[in-house]
Amino acid sequence: MVTATRPQPQVKIGPTHLLINNEWVESVSKKKFATINPATGEVICEVAEADAADVDKAVQAARKAFNGEWRQISATARGNLLYRLADLIEENLDELARLETLDNGKPINDSVGDIESVIACYRYYAGWADKVQGKTIPINGPYFCYTRHEPVGVVGQIIPWNFPLLMQAWKLAPALATGNTVVMKTAEQTPLSALRVGELIVEAGFPAGVVNILSGYGPTAGAAIAYHHDIDKVAFTGSTEVGHLIMEAAAKSNLKRVTLELGGKSPNIVFADANIDAAIQAAHEAIFFNQGQCCSAGSRLFVEAKIYDEFVNRSVEIARQRIVGDPFDPNTQQGPQVYQEQFNLVMSYIESGQR
Ligand code: NAD
Repeated sequence: MVTATRPQPQVKIGPTHLLINNEWVESVSKKKFATINPATGEVICEVAEADAADVDKAVQAARKAFNGEWRQISATARGNLLYRLADLIEENLDELARLETLDNGKPINDSVGDIESVIACYRYYAGWADKVQGKTIPINGPYFCYTRHEPVGVVGQIIPWNFPLLMQAWKLAPALATGNTVVMKTAEQTPLSALRVGELIVEAGFPAGVVNILSGYGPTAGAAIAYHHDIDKVAFTGSTEVGHLIMEAAAKSNLKRVTLELGGKSPNIVFADANIDAAIQAAHEAIFFNQGQCCSAGSRLFVEAKIYDEFVNRSVEIARQRIVGDPFDPNTQQGPQVYQEQFNLVMSYIESGQR
């Protein structure tokens, strides 16, 4: 953990309940859990904790919206809603960035960068909404056949904590552009910013039930999504271990479609004839960006023997210069790991490396 050294800015927390059918509701069990500021270890607030009963309610709302109003509106109107959401996120960029930094610990400048990409993502998919086309296929005789792309239906989305708002955008934007309705479960470590975007989704005018956002844990709410018989697809980003469970749950329930984006151990390879300054800088960012918490982090580095010693020495040098500290300080390059277990895990890797 990094101890905050300066007074923390006032951060508007936003909603803490579950978003089901465009309403903010407590969980059926009335349970809540705490979300922690990783820079200080302090509880920020408590949020409603969803489990299977809440997933059921959200799926019912999503199914009703899918069969009803959402099916009736034009693809262009869907795109316009996404543009409106992007505009609202842009209007609230600073507030969202502070909330992201508070809950996730990433340096404030990185949060701003993430949200700029979030806005671009919603706009990108907004443009696609009325441009997803099938084919007109000539066949034998005076005939043709044509294909249409149809939405899959009710989509379950389970996301991790490393880029909370970007993960939300990467999952929501394409699903909504193509006419699906969504039950999203955010990561238990970082529920807050996605809920605030939920508020903007309602404000943008998305019909009730199109987007439902649940805070909760994996083995309860996450598993309930993966096993649900009325969810047509699950999109999951997270660990490979849980990816296995998601695919198993899909197979054991209704053979829902599955998209898995899992972990990796990505190598960088540097040869002696490389631009060594650029390679050292890139290798540094590859492993340190976002506190090293990236699925594509350059967590292995192969360096040709001839330049190995120089490369290692200079890499150590720039790692030492990295500014670690309070994530709200605009000079900070590296904040805390997202939660204590993750910190412990990273330390255990360092210790095992030293051993
Ligand atoms: P995790 O798999 O434990 O958690 C990710 C999400 O899955 C969370 O929302 C969690 O609550 C949920 N979950 C946990 N158990 C579940 C279960 N039994 N059923 C359903 N949902 C469940 O991942 P983590 O260790 O917290 O996150 C880091 C991992 O995510 C790393 O392996 C990282 O490489 C990977 N990741 C991959 C990408 C990518 O795009 N490929 C992006 C970011 C992170």
